[in-house]
Amino acid sequence: MDYLEGLNPEQRGAVQQIKGPVMIIAGAGSGKTRVITYRVAHLIRSGVDSFNILVLTFTNKAAKEMRERITHVVGTEAKNIWMGTFHSVFAKILRVEADKLGYPNNFTIYDTDDSKSVLRAILKEMNLDDKLYSANFVYNRISAAKNNLISPAEYAQNEQIQADDFSSGRQHLGKIYETYAQRCFKAGAMDFDDLLFKTNELLKRYPDVLNKYQHKFKYIMVDEYQDTNFSQYLIVKKLAAVTENICVVGDDAQSIYAFRGANIQNILNFEKDYPDVKVFKLEQNYRSTQNIVNIANSIIANNKEQLKKNVFSENEVGDRIKVMRAFSDNEEGKIVAEAIMQERSTKGLKWNDFAILYRTNAQSRAMEEALRKMGTPYKIYGGLSFYQRKEIKDLIAYFRLTFNPNDEVAMKRVINYPKRGIGDTTVDRIIISADQHQLTQWEIITNAQMYLDGRSSGQVSSFGTLIQSFQVIGKNMNAYDAALHIAQHSGLLKDLYEDKSIEGLNRYENIQELLNGIKEFSEREDIEEKGLDVFMQDIALLTNDDNDKDPNADTVSLMTIHSSKGLEFPQVYVVGLEENLFPSQMSLNSRSDLEEERRLFYVAVTRAKSKLTISYATSRFKFGTLISCEPSRFLDEIDAKYLELDFTAKPAASSFFDDERTAWSRKADTFSKPKSPAPSTPPKTTSILAKAHVPTPGFAPSDTSKLQTGMEVEHERFGFGKVLQLEGNKPDIKATIFFKEIGQKQLLLKFAKLRIV
Ligand code: ATP
Ligand code: MG
Repeated sequence: MDYLEGLNPEQRGAVQQIKGPVMIIAGAGSGKTRVITYRVAHLIRSGVDSFNILVLTFTNKAAKEMRERITHVVGTEAKNIWMGTFHSVFAKILRVEADKLGYPNNFTIYDTDDSKSVLRAILKEMNLDDKLYSANFVYNRISAAKNNLISPAEYAQNEQIQADDFSSGRQHLGKIYETYAQRCFKAGAMDFDDLLFKTNELLKRYPDVLNKYQHKFKYIMVDEYQDTNFSQYLIVKKLAAVTENICVVGDDAQSIYAFRGANIQNILNFEKDYPDVKVFKLEQNYRSTQNIVNIANSIIANNKEQLKKNVFSENEVGDRIKVMRAFSDNEEGKIVAEAIMQERSTKGLKWNDFAILYRTNAQSRAMEEALRKMGTPYKIYGGLSFYQRKEIKDLIAYFRLTFNPNDEVAMKRVINYPKRGIGDTTVDRIIISADQHQLTQWEIITNAQMYLDGRSSGQVSSFGTLIQSFQVIGKNMNAYDAALHIAQHSGLLKDLYEDKSIEGLNRYENIQELLNGIKEFSEREDIEEKGLDVFMQDIALLTNDDNDKDPNADTVSLMTIHSSKGLEFPQVYVVGLEENLFPSQMSLNSRSDLEEERRLFYVAVTRAKSKLTISYATSRFKFGTLISCEPSRFLDEIDAKYLELDFTAKPAASSFFDDERTAWSRKADTFSKPKSPAPSTPPKTTSILAKAHVPTPGFAPSDTSKLQTGMEVEHERFGFGKVLQLEGNKPDIKATIFFKEIGQKQLLLKFAKLRIV
């Protein structure tokens, strides 16, 4: 059994324990995902039928990679395994079983945008204040309810929920939820959360269906178990109830989706749910250098809530973790891009070896700009999917209507695009009439003359006839011929063709690209059903990573930390380590939110294999204004002995600090080269701030009673700065000082350890 040699004894134990419940709780990079991969291969080699295996991963990408690796060991058998994200696997099951729940098998999957547009329409109809009830807020609220398996009826009856909504002045949420659920149902549409919610309903209402899948999935494995929500937890629990051959792997320290309903308790409850569980602990990290593992441990040690683990690495000690400071977000982009360029050429690396991780999508702009300027190839992951572009969604809306003519969002999208003289009022009439007469939108459209007034009914009727003609085509032609026909006869292709602007050209090309993709699909030999309806099935679940034209292209990867889960790169740059950004401002109200941010930081640093660099900017554009930023508290928390500070970046434009820059730079330089013999006082604390500024020898606070605005000062910890403002009366004078290193701060003079320079 050659493949078992690539595992340590503990990992091998978990792989070979094929019967009964198994839980692997282990730190980052300790081979959890590897264990799942080898375990599946081992099951098949041990004679388990590959059709009986279900593997749930967090991203489609992870599933794809896993399948490739399993194929190496067991060959084409790997094709039969059910493997994918919760959403994609259960969408597939719902496609087969939907009629039991009253849905068409061709049900539409509403993506987040679709759901919000339905919500916006409902809010408008109900005349509700869109500030109090923003579509975003309402969407999240409904999502949370669904992920906790609370139906609209239960929502309305739950006293606690009602009291909460009442006290926040949002007592209509229950009604909105109910209307939204009805509207989706009538439209034959499920939103993302429905894919799990309805699966639970299916398994609960139909014991025979449950039984069927319990016997189909004799072996179940779940990666990243710490991020499952209640709805997912219950599906897995039900499916595994008969055989109990369930293996989950996870790391409580990497739980980063509580905001979406993930519940760390699922890990903690596992031992209660399955008293015979065999627990395996993996402690050796194979991914990263010792310095990276040590820094990760020192970060997570600040969290109160955690299962104690002793993660260690036997890899080389490695470089210290570099901390780079920039004076602005643009400059941060520049120094990161330069560092990557330099590392690549001095170490003979590929662009692929680098990843830049950030807390929020908005931060990618500065990074992209800098990379583009230097001609560095890069790719943003987790951004807007190809299928989310307007023109693609437009054409797909026609496809959706063809197979599900009750799809409300699709109808609204294209009933008047390209223009057919059907106004918003008519569209509203269609929806309202359907409600009044207890009919579907399609019944109104196809009988327009009965329900709508004369002028508009003609146009709506011809739209109905157009869609009917597409239905015939959709049934009888292969996917490509049908798609091309619809693109042409809807008038969409012509409309785009006539737009000769650069964007118009781009949109036209995108449509061509979609058609090419459908053509490839039509020509595939490994599938029997090649209709457009089959192609369409799970498009809403695709992300831009799944449409990767050239996954092996040599590019630097850019992504949010959330999307970097489970991945690894030789060199990682974690940017934007500033208060209010990371930790995010929204997390500062509660310990549990702050701890989630810290776990996110832990996830970020543990993506790095050989080198980790962290950066922050002392000022940043936010909503159009320049604000000064303080370094993140997370930097303070790291044990400084693992750090190497690089404060050599100079402000790009001249600033009022120019006159003092030489002195400051000289100081910063001494810290950026820790091995240089330059005299340095050892820092008193392990805080990065303390280390960033070693006070001038003989530093003693001086009398600040004569302090005036404009004066230059040195602070024991914050370094050199300039006084911007003094306010208040003695002895409580407050000084606003702009410190070169950390930006603006307010200090009470009587406590401040300041020296006038
Ligand atoms: P994460 O928590 O980030 O998801 P993980 O625990 O799933 O990490 P893996 O991704 O499975 O860890 O493994 C991390 C790296 O260590 C991978 O490159 C993997 O191939 C390697 N690795 C794991 N176990 C071993 C081993 N026994 N021998 C050699 N390399 C190993
Ligand atoms: Mg993993």
